[in-house]
Amino acid sequence: MAKLYFRYGAMNSGKSTSLLQAAYNYEERGHYVLLAKPAIDSKAGRAILSRIGSARDVDYLIGPSESAYDVFQTHRSEVQQHTGRDISCLLLDESQFLSESQVNDLLRIAVLDDIPVICYGIRTDFQTAAFPGSRRLLEIAHSLEELKTICRCGRKAVFNGRLVGGEFVFDGEQVAIDGVEVTYESMCAKCYLRMSGGRLNR
Ligand SMILES: [Zn+2]
Repeated sequence: MAKLYFRYGAMNSGKSTSLLQAAYNYEERGHYVLLAKPAIDSKAGRAILSRIGSARDVDYLIGPSESAYDVFQTHRSEVQQHTGRDISCLLLDESQFLSESQVNDLLRIAVLDDIPVICYGIRTDFQTAAFPGSRRLLEIAHSLEELKTICRCGRKAVFNGRLVGGEFVFDGEQVAIDGVEVTYESMCAKCYLRMSGGRLNR
């Protein structure tokens, strides 16, 4: 039976790089994969951007109210018609932005269709609370793997501090895609608590 995997980490822990590498490994051996991400991630349009330079467009975006099961089957059918081959793996970037029911759909793809589903995402938001997609993945994924990065102090980073105009903020909406004004910094718990004045969540 195929499995649902959740590979999580703080910002800048190499999630997109790891995803692109996984896709390459399958394709190098002649397999077909599908790449997808939630449409809410407007940062890069359809692209999966890796900080070390490689980039690639996803095969499809998943709308907020779409069935992750149905949209996968549509794209799987297209590949089958064009190549006569089935999909060997479904890879999802920014999976923290999926809904709970979409993560349930991904478990169905792994278990009922016997296709491995590998999700990459951030575990918690800037207030240290789980994103909806991440919470559900932590609950039901067969396999959990942490991708590590380091804090400015050298410890392992587990949280994501939000900066607006270069200043740390601890109040605001859960989702604010990083760009010119909003940026994020991966931090250890000690540095986070120091910057937040001891606050851990809303
Ligand atoms: Zn630190």
